[in-house]
Amino acid sequence: MEKNKNTKSFIDLAKRRGFFWQSSEIYGGTSGMFDYGPLGLLLKTKLINKWRNFFVKQEDNIFEIETSIIQPEKVFEASGHLDSFIDPITQCKKCNSIFRADNLIEEKTKEFVEGKKPEELTKIIKENNIKCPKCKSELSKVKIFNLMVKTFLSPTEDEIAYLRPETAQGIFIDFKRILVATRVKLPFGVAQIGPSFRNEISPRQFLIRLRAFSQMEIEWFVVPEEIKIHPRFREVEKVKIRILTRKAQEENGNETILTASEALRKRIVPNQNLAYFLARETQFYQSIGLPFEAFRFRHMLPEETPHYSKGNFDLEIKFDFGWKEVVGNAYRTDHDLKKHMEKSGVDLSVRLDDGAKVIPHVVEPSFGIERTIYGILFHCYRDDKERGWEWFAFPPSIAPYSVGVFPLVNKNGLQEKAKEVLKLLKKHFDVFYDDSGSIGRRYARADEVGTPFGITIDYDTIKNNTVTLRYRDTTKQDRVKIEDLVKIIYMKVHS
Ligand code: AMP
Repeated sequence: MEKNKNTKSFIDLAKRRGFFWQSSEIYGGTSGMFDYGPLGLLLKTKLINKWRNFFVKQEDNIFEIETSIIQPEKVFEASGHLDSFIDPITQCKKCNSIFRADNLIEEKTKEFVEGKKPEELTKIIKENNIKCPKCKSELSKVKIFNLMVKTFLSPTEDEIAYLRPETAQGIFIDFKRILVATRVKLPFGVAQIGPSFRNEISPRQFLIRLRAFSQMEIEWFVVPEEIKIHPRFREVEKVKIRILTRKAQEENGNETILTASEALRKRIVPNQNLAYFLARETQFYQSIGLPFEAFRFRHMLPEETPHYSKGNFDLEIKFDFGWKEVVGNAYRTDHDLKKHMEKSGVDLSVRLDDGAKVIPHVVEPSFGIERTIYGILFHCYRDDKERGWEWFAFPPSIAPYSVGVFPLVNKNGLQEKAKEVLKLLKKHFDVFYDDSGSIGRRYARADEVGTPFGITIDYDTIKNNTVTLRYRDTTKQDRVKIEDLVKIIYMKVHS
């Protein structure tokens, strides 16, 4: 896909200023993998902290855990990943390029072929005379390719294991431990943040389709008969959410804006538990710099929804190449816990206060960190002709650096005074110091990486302990006392 000018510019800017770059670059780079540089890691860390604060700390009953990244084969036999986490592939007999067979067919015939067997796909390729898109030669028979990254444990390498393709399975297999250790009652949730790996056939669009990426997931466990009720739904019932309904998709229509309670009343969203998360995600994505119009919840079509799932809504962000899933929301019923019960023989049911035993139902929001970061960069990028330089309008709570400190000139004690202010601010914020070049250049460099506040130390600072505080968004400046700085900036960074 050709990047349009905007995408190219923000990626160039992000690379130049060290947000991220391709992994193993000096050896030619590894496709589908990238490394975070200093600014990118600050942004990622702040995003995670904000998410944790929003989806874990502010909740009553959500616990965060961290499970092993490598898990034995049995886990994925039970979860179904071994059999069904697969893509059909075909290879060019001449240039050896590999393609997703279903994508090729869908592009050529506009026919939806998800779930069809390899033999059927091979037949469709033949019948429609589909050739290699690169060199127009004949394609091979369709084969099944498992997307999990396989590894071997023990010196004899006879123990097969996999790098997890999602963080969720760790939560299900630890379910009993969590239940006993926390003595929690249903409903409750377990969150996990960390890396996941998928051997994607054609990684692309930079941070969008990676082989190594990170997720933030929650498994929210509920008594099956109580799935319609969420204890804190009242708090979000009036939150407006944008939904692309199944009907709208069939009719090529647009999104509808509904409050969370209207979406329930109209039976578009099946229960309060799912609706609660859709509303909270709407609030969260707005708080990290995405306009309301920039994302929507698409009700997945029946053919895209697994048989055990009773409602899937993807949060999709609008990019220049189209809408892309960034969070998968699924009402997974008791599917996962049941499968692990069967395979492990361990009872994963919960005893309720009245003595009844239930296998909880699960609602799962699964957030992709890199896709979210891509969305933030895309929607916060400003190609500001009037200002004369590009900049990122990151909300202060996730901006990599909160403050830049600049001595107006490098003489007459201004540098020393600036370093005093720097030391004071460093106790509370991520701050950088810049004394090179004109003050205008320094503001430009600070804006480029989305720093919301700039502090300039001038001759008046020496006289009366005041500084100028510059706001990135408006470029306006206030004169403030050094003793008030922390309070003023703190309120904005933590709002
Ligand atoms: P899924 O389990 O496929 O619904 O994935 C959940 C979320 O993980 C998606 O919404 C994405 O944000 C993220 N994700 C999945 N696969 C990839 C990938 N190959 N590269 C980057 N992010 C991904």
